[in-house]
Formats: sequence, structure tokens, C-alpha cells
Amino acid sequence: MTCDFTRRGFGRMAAALAMAAVAPGRSRAASRLPLVMIDPGHGGHDPGAIAPDGTYEKTITLASGLELRRKLEATGRYRVRMTRTTDVFVTLEARVADAIAANANLFLALHCDHLPEPDMRGASVFTLSDKASDALAAGVAADENSADKFAPGHIAGVSPQVMNILASLESRATRLGSATFAHNIVQSFTGVIPLLPDPMRSANFAVLRDPSTPNTLLEMGCLTNPLDEALLKSPAHRALIAARLTDAIDHYFSGQSGWRVAG
Ligand SMILES: [Zn+2]
Repeated sequence: MTCDFTRRGFGRMAAALAMAAVAPGRSRAASRLPLVMIDPGHGGHDPGAIAPDGTYEKTITLASGLELRRKLEATGRYRVRMTRTTDVFVTLEARVADAIAANANLFLALHCDHLPEPDMRGASVFTLSDKASDALAAGVAADENSADKFAPGHIAGVSPQVMNILASLESRATRLGSATFAHNIVQSFTGVIPLLPDPMRSANFAVLRDPSTPNTLLEMGCLTNPLDEALLKSPAHRALIAARLTDAIDHYFSGQSGWRVAG
């Protein structure tokens, strides 16, 4: 894992140097753009939640992630990376490592909820917390974190001791950035995308444990609700989600010192 990670890091550095040698001006300009890491949940032999009609969460998260990348890149204001662009399995640990290695400025995990009551519907936004905001939130985190049970040889990866160190290292700025971004998403969705009654939630998600990158996990809707399921399967609705997320990301970076994100 570590060796592979290092190799990938050197590979990227070599590629960046090669690009700089060819077009130094353009490379420098591009590197000043904020880097957004999109993390489509699940993939490969981990389907995530399964809707009553058999639709997989992993399919919706990937389609949504690709649409968001397209919209963000079309603005010309961002660099965009994804933790996966095809139907492959990626461990939660590797997703976090990818964001750290890329020096991402913002990390957004995309998921679909599955809640016990079929009439519960709407999107919600999670930030990291040792304590879940409610019992349902704790259950959602347990489900999403269980993705690594699919990994060969059990790569839950991070020991409780290391977890504690990571938690203590998490800077106040990162926590503030994550909370701000979650707020930006809820504001941008309000009145356009259905939201849970209390959409700002917190729980202990493995993919949100990077202490250096402001990050949020978005549940785009509930696959257990027929109305939400129909929306999530609709490319037009996913395009609307991507448009509102682009708006939220614009708001986030326009409020961060050091970035100028003009429309
Ligand atoms: Zn999920």
C-alpha cells in the first residue's frame, strides 16, 4: 500500500515536471486553480445500497461524480480529480490517501442514503465527528464505513491509536472549512433539491478522516424512497445536483482567502 502510494506520487511528480517543461506558463496558471477531489462512493464488488428495483448506489454515485467533474471543468475555475472514474473497487483508505497525495483543496464524497422508513427522503450533508448527530447518522456511517469489509485481507487500515493522532492533528481550519462547505451545499440545494428535515449531520466516516483537506460527504437522496429513487436515476436530476454543487463550490472558494473564484 505504502510502496504503491509512493510510486504513484513519484509518477505524478514526473508527469507534472514533464508538463511544466513543455508549457511552463500554462502549467503554472493551472496549478493556481483549486483542486477538487470527487469521491464517488462504493464500486466494483461493493454495490453500496440497493434500491427496491435493483439499482445500485455505486452506479448513481459514479454517474453523478462524472457529471460534476464535467460541470466543474467547464467553468475553467478548477482542477478536478476523482478517486474512481470506472466501476472499480477502491478502499476507503486509498480514497483518503489519494486526496492527501494530490494536495486536494476540497474533498466531496458522493453517496445515496438508505433509511429505515421508506417515506423518509431528501439529501443530507455529513461532516466528521466522533459523535454522530443522531442514531440514524451513526447507522449511515457504519454502513458506509463497512465498504472496506470488501477489501482483501481486511484493510480497515487505520488503527485506533493512529485514528486518535489524526483526530488531534485535524486543524481548526480544516474543520471550519468542512462545516462551511456543508453549509454552502445545503444553502445551494434549498428549494431546488429535496432535503431531509435536518440536513446538516455529522458522524465518524472513514473517508472524512483526512485532517488536512476540508471534506464533506453528501447523501444525494434516499434509495429507499420511491420518489428519491426515481430522481436519482434521472440524468436530468443528477445534472441539477451537479449544477447546485458547482454553485456551492463557487461559494466555498470565493469565501476562502487565497483563492479568487470569479464567475
Ligand atoms: Zn454509500
